Amino acid sequence: MRITDRRHNRESEMLCEERIRLFDAYAAATLAYHMAVTIVNGSGETPEELSKTLMASVGARAKCVKARLALQEHKRQHRC
Ligand SMILES: [Zn+2]
Repeated sequence: MRITDRRHNRESEMLCEERIRLFDAYAAATLAYHMAVTIVNGSGETPEELSKTLMASVGARAKCVKARLALQEHKRQHRC
């Protein structure tokens, strides 16, 4: 989903490897979260299945937020 953005960043900015790694983790977490939300919004699941999916989406969202904060913190500390 964010592959185009990443390619753009790699060409236009000097990124350190750690920042690239953190960005990739953030992009992957964002994608996983959006996929989880898509599944939650889908129909045809039993209440039990939906409950499990909702729990998974909460976990995916937490990972997404954590990954974003890690990226922001790295940029702040490293000034890259
Ligand atoms: Zn850096």
